[in-house]
Amino acid sequence: MDFNVIIVGAGPGGIFTAYELTKRAPEKKVAVFELGRELSKRKCPIDGKKIKSCVKCPVCSIMSGFGGAGAFSDGKYNITNQFGGTLYEYVGKNEAIELMRYVDEINLAYGGEGTKLYSTANTRIKRMCLENGLHLLDAQVRHLGTDINYVVLENLYNELCGKVEFHFNTAVTAVERIEGGYRVACGEQSFTCENCVISVGRSGSKWMESVCRSLDIPTKSNRVDIGVRVELPAEIFAHLTDELYESKIVYRTEKFEDLVRTFCMNPHGVVVNENTNGIVTVNGHSYEDPARHTENTNFALLVSKHFSEPFKDSNGYGESIARLSNMLGGGVIVQRFGDLVRGRRSTESRIRDSFVTPTLAATPGDLSLVIPKRILDGIIEMIHALDKIAPGTANDDTLLYGVEVKFYNMEVAIDRNLETSSPGLYVIGDCSGVTHSLSHASASGVHVARRLAEQE
Ligand SMILES: Cc1cc2nc3c(=O)[nH]c(=O)nc-3n(C[C@H](O)[C@H](O)[C@H](O)COP(=O)(O)OP(=O)(O)OC[C@H]3O[C@@H](n4cnc5c(N)ncnc54)[C@H](O)[C@@H]3O)c2cc1C
Repeated sequence: MDFNVIIVGAGPGGIFTAYELTKRAPEKKVAVFELGRELSKRKCPIDGKKIKSCVKCPVCSIMSGFGGAGAFSDGKYNITNQFGGTLYEYVGKNEAIELMRYVDEINLAYGGEGTKLYSTANTRIKRMCLENGLHLLDAQVRHLGTDINYVVLENLYNELCGKVEFHFNTAVTAVERIEGGYRVACGEQSFTCENCVISVGRSGSKWMESVCRSLDIPTKSNRVDIGVRVELPAEIFAHLTDELYESKIVYRTEKFEDLVRTFCMNPHGVVVNENTNGIVTVNGHSYEDPARHTENTNFALLVSKHFSEPFKDSNGYGESIARLSNMLGGGVIVQRFGDLVRGRRSTESRIRDSFVTPTLAATPGDLSLVIPKRILDGIIEMIHALDKIAPGTANDDTLLYGVEVKFYNMEVAIDRNLETSSPGLYVIGDCSGVTHSLSHASASGVHVARRLAEQE
């Protein structure tokens, strides 16, 4: 065998598998194959001047490369079993929290020291939410910030270099079972290993499906979250963000009894484009460095859509809605809340006259032509509910960017070791459908590495 362990994908799942293996089993020969670039070479061509919007690079530097999809993220590291994935269903609740805390300690040791840990438990904000039909989820949140998150990744890369063999710009095209292990093909080349850990994230979801099909590993279709990114003056949410940084708030709509939730809150942050398989959606982040703060706070409002038989392609559904916004707006659409409720599109001049200055150059338009009525009604209801705990949320000038889509991978059948029915093949992180956060994905990597380290 060329290697004891091959890891496919250098996102948080892959990085923490490699890290823990170097600590617990330094004698093992480990390789990481990553289709993107190493961290220092990850550059998105959008400069805001010559190139203003996504040019659909063959390999997206935002989503791919060392650090994975979260490399330029806000680095919100949530220590909780209440959201971010269902790792606890596989490893147990205490173990899941222990793993997340362990990763948090590593992040601190590699550059994150001094960053703040927020907690939502037992706060007066929780009571205020309950009084208004809103539910604040419990979590501890470490806010690394985009800048410190990058430093941590840089330091982890330097730590791993020389101990682990990295192959960048190398997409794994197939994983084939052979006697005593796997053959991992990268186009013409192939490498063999005893154990293979796949951690290809959301961007690798289609490829992951093909691997499961070829190795006969059961999967089941999952869900998709659809919504908008809200941007408003930071003062409106300051009493929440100063104390909690991020608040995950859930609301049950009166009309359809759907659950709408806040997601990825970025105080003083910026709204950004996200490119998933060529489809441009919206996201947001913020910097730890006060010099890079904006006057706005942004967060997503999302509605989960679960499908039942015979429809299986939940991601396809989300993609179609995002494509519609790309078709109408050439990318992301922005609309003032006041325009949306009055049933009219936003225009360049209405946005220009608005008291909220957008941090993303999106196309003014009409989100009601894109987002299904049921979902949009839920979002409008939630904005009014949030207005009770954060007056000003439902102002006319509040900006809504669409669409924000959270794609989830189909769930791969794995056991409590995160091993598939194909012995020695582990599927972790977001591509397993089990995690959808930095903390859960990283923790899943540590968990698998510990199992592999125990093997002879
Ligand atoms: C803009 C943005 C902001 C985010 N902010 C946060 C946040 O603040 N907090 C939070 O908890 N989560 C956040 N997330 C989500 C978080 O980044 C992911 O949950 C996490 O990165 C998942 O880790 P992963 O290792 O499973 O996959 P990924 O990070 O997606 O890494 C997978 C890697 O595999 C590579 N790959 C794919 N296919 C192949 C192949 N065939 N061969 C070789 N390599 C392959 C990809 O290039 C990628 O680098 C954010 C995501 C985005 C996009």
